[in-house]
Amino acid sequence: LTSRLPAVGTTVFTRMSALAAQAGAVNLGQGFPDFGCERSLIGAVNAAMEADFNQYPMMSGAPVLRHAIGAKIAALYGHQYDVDSEITVTAGATQALTTAILCSVHPGDEVIVIEPVYDSYVPAITLAGGVAVAVEMEVGAKGYAVPWTKVAAAVNGKTRMIVINTPHNPTSSVLRAADMQALADIVRGTNVLILSDEVYEHMVYDGQRHESVSRHPELAARAFVVSSFGKTYHVTGWKIGYVAAPAALMAEFRKVHQYNVFSVNTPMQHGIASYMADPKPYLELPAFYQRKRDLFRDGLKNTRFELLPADGTYFQCVRYDRVSSRTEAEFAEWLTTEIKVAAIPVSAFYQQGKESGVVRFCFAKKDETLALALERLATV
Ligand code: PMP
Ligand code: GLN
Repeated sequence: LTSRLPAVGTTVFTRMSALAAQAGAVNLGQGFPDFGCERSLIGAVNAAMEADFNQYPMMSGAPVLRHAIGAKIAALYGHQYDVDSEITVTAGATQALTTAILCSVHPGDEVIVIEPVYDSYVPAITLAGGVAVAVEMEVGAKGYAVPWTKVAAAVNGKTRMIVINTPHNPTSSVLRAADMQALADIVRGTNVLILSDEVYEHMVYDGQRHESVSRHPELAARAFVVSSFGKTYHVTGWKIGYVAAPAALMAEFRKVHQYNVFSVNTPMQHGIASYMADPKPYLELPAFYQRKRDLFRDGLKNTRFELLPADGTYFQCVRYDRVSSRTEAEFAEWLTTEIKVAAIPVSAFYQQGKESGVVRFCFAKKDETLALALERLATV
């Protein structure tokens, strides 16, 4: 068989989690919480199963969940999507992202991605026959930033889509209103679509607000906006997310979605819908994770790692050049096997494997897990 994805191996997250398990390391690599979700969320899913919500839901998602999602977006970002034609429930954000790309990118189209780039976008672009055009973030005093003039320069007649991610994995940077304005200026008068990965929308710190594309009507009119309940409700294994987009885009999205997964498991959709009636869990998430971020950053100050800013997500990037001159992949492996703390090399988020001496830690962990990791990291 000739591979459709010859350059693709097993994801860095899978590899580092396997190595962490084998080495008995504290796993701060792959992004997932090591604590449980709210029991009432599990109760809500159980109640849905008991109430016999166990057959196929609508292809677009259970209406109760689409209504809850629409109400949340309207309340937080002021944009009312039509819940029948503009919101679709997906099997995690990954499926939403891949489906959005497959339904809109034609062979030969260019898709601009921002590096470091989350690992699932480029393979989806490749499967669609598109060409990923990478624009690298620049690192200044305030951390990683998107150089919009370079994005503008990359746009041409073949550009079909620009993929953005805010808050950003792995750099923990967030886009601000001025970034959204710059993006709007770039796409105005073109047919370029926006795919906005906002899975960490509820993890923005220090009183800043999340600049959802859905807040910006000019961008929302040409955008697929993606999020994930896995991140927000501490249930990454449930693999439920959603996409919101104008009806014309959503009609194309659903053509692919219906033959890709058709629909997403019913009881969890009902359970999440009833749990969402209370906005507290997501409204309290920034404070919940900001405390963990601060705890982790304070501890890292007692190590030889150099902290990079962390404005959003549950990731913290550090520079390790005072500790080692190994490549990022070698350093992450050494840290996992010898120091017993797993991390992710940021080079894995660059198509050409660019080395910048930075690894990523996930702080979505119990305080005692973070304390144990910090104790070990202080020894290097
Ligand atoms: N996008 C980004 C930036 C992510 O970090 C992740 C998950 N780690 C996803 C998408 C995928 O989300 P899900 O697990 O809901 O598919
Ligand atoms: N998005 C998660 C991370 O960045 C991993 C998800 C996965 O393993 N595919 O760590």
